[in-house]
Amino acid sequence: MKRKLYSKLYLLEELKRYGDKFGKVPTVRELKKEGDFPNEKPFLKYFGSWANALREAGLVNFNCIRCNKEFIGDSHAAKHCPECRKRQHAYLGLRFKVFNRDNFTCQYCGRSPLKDKVVLEVDHIHPKSKGGEESIDNYITACSECNIGKRDIIITRHKRFI
Ligand SMILES: [Zn+2]
Ligand SMILES: [Zn+2]
Repeated sequence: MKRKLYSKLYLLEELKRYGDKFGKVPTVRELKKEGDFPNEKPFLKYFGSWANALREAGLVNFNCIRCNKEFIGDSHAAKHCPECRKRQHAYLGLRFKVFNRDNFTCQYCGRSPLKDKVVLEVDHIHPKSKGGEESIDNYITACSECNIGKRDIIITRHKRFI
């Protein structure tokens, strides 16, 4: 039987391909099944150990700091799983839209980060605790002080409605 020769690059690519496809770090056995490797010898030859091979391919299991789910990532990646990262980006996108619509100004006191060094937050017009919706129409820009002071009082006379 002719022995197949594997290059180091090929092995790394195979590991990465597996990681992308399944979103997890493969075991030797799983990779053998998926790729066409007779055994882990080619990996040992280039990397010394299976764990080293995984590390070089950037396949490391992390636990998401938000939901604690295990996900695959490289050591430079954010500490959030892809789903949490996506949710975070979606939230930041929406937050920006609200700030932009409200001219980056607190809609209660009229202060802005640029002039008054306040920190802006997204507030619910109708509080979540009182059945307020999660929609851009129910969001309003508030500085952190107004937001804390307001708590879950429903205020209808803010700048947007005057
Ligand atoms: Zn997560
Ligand atoms: Zn304010």
